[in-house]
Amino acid sequence: MAKITLSNLRHSYLPNPKGQEDYALKEIDLDWQDGGAYALLGPSGCGKSTLLNIISGLLAPSEGRILFDDRDVTDLPPDQRNIAQVFQFPVIYDTMTVRDNLAFPLRNRGVPETRIAERVDEIAGMLEVEDMLDIRAAHLSPDNKQKISMGRGLVRDDVNVVMFDEPLTVIDPHLKWKLRSKLKELHQRVRATMIYVTHDQTEALTFADQVVVMQDGEVVQIGTPVELFERPQHTFVGHFIGSPGMNVLPVTETDGQVSFNGQTIFLEGKVTGQGGSTELGIRPEFVSIATTGIEARVRKVSDVGRHSVVEAMVGDTPVKAVVEGAVPEQGAPVHLNFAQKQTRLYRDGWIATEVSA
Ligand code: ADP
Ligand code: MG
Repeated sequence: MAKITLSNLRHSYLPNPKGQEDYALKEIDLDWQDGGAYALLGPSGCGKSTLLNIISGLLAPSEGRILFDDRDVTDLPPDQRNIAQVFQFPVIYDTMTVRDNLAFPLRNRGVPETRIAERVDEIAGMLEVEDMLDIRAAHLSPDNKQKISMGRGLVRDDVNVVMFDEPLTVIDPHLKWKLRSKLKELHQRVRATMIYVTHDQTEALTFADQVVVMQDGEVVQIGTPVELFERPQHTFVGHFIGSPGMNVLPVTETDGQVSFNGQTIFLEGKVTGQGGSTELGIRPEFVSIATTGIEARVRKVSDVGRHSVVEAMVGDTPVKAVVEGAVPEQGAPVHLNFAQKQTRLYRDGWIATEVSA
């Protein structure tokens, strides 16, 4: 196992990149601590696979260095980096049995057969595929093929990091949650550094202790699931994480005073910086319906099980509130209250309020 450092990393797939927009990865500086359970979360096309392939050595970065425990591995080929990578689609040998597929990464390294047998049984037990061990992989369902592919990624116990690139894409929905919790359990057991790539916030938040959120070739925030929920550093994080996502509202700012639809809004703390384009961020969980406050009219009420989501119009702007219990009717005039401690200003997308002492 090792700490992995990415230093001044940039990557373009073009031979002669010019502007920022030519880079699939813009400027990445990141430490992955030894033994951590990480998720790399972001929408399709934001650069997640590019970053993984640079870590594993399948791709050489245009600029920057990759260090394992402070040793520069930028110029090392994949087989010398000691990494296990599980891809979106199964990578297994169809003509081999499941047992031989699982044993393969160990045989490759010259691990003694007795140890291989032990390890294969252990992994097969964790993944609940014991009854398939002597079946030829060609006969497996796509689900099971991917399970074996994951097993191949987990079988070695000497790797620096195990990386999963959207591994549950081909897995049946009902099996998904099972495998996801299994992976979490596995991490707790083996304590290897794991990087789990996904565009699905639920997958990221259930698996990871630390989530790295990417947008458009950049890391926008690294934090625990709670930190990402409570204090998004960027409107993108607020919007992308949470269900529904954070309300991002147009505001005007004059001398540190912020108003929304003509009404003064009290923020969590002092405003930082100046100029740029400003927006207010507040999660629907912290918007309540009150007797006084911002005037609004209910446009839609959705019952989502444990609570309801009320969408109310403030002028032309929709604001969502998560409401427990009784809800107002569609069309009803209401007042909205924003919990002050959870109300933040964003400037050009980035958080621009300080937490009050
Ligand atoms: P993600 O895994 O987050 O979906 P990728 O890392 O695959 O994103 O892609 C990031 C960007 O790089 C996208 O704009 C994608 O089109 C581009 N890209 C990915 N692979 C290649 C490639 N082999 N050649 C050229 N462009 C690529
Ligand atoms: Mg990808």
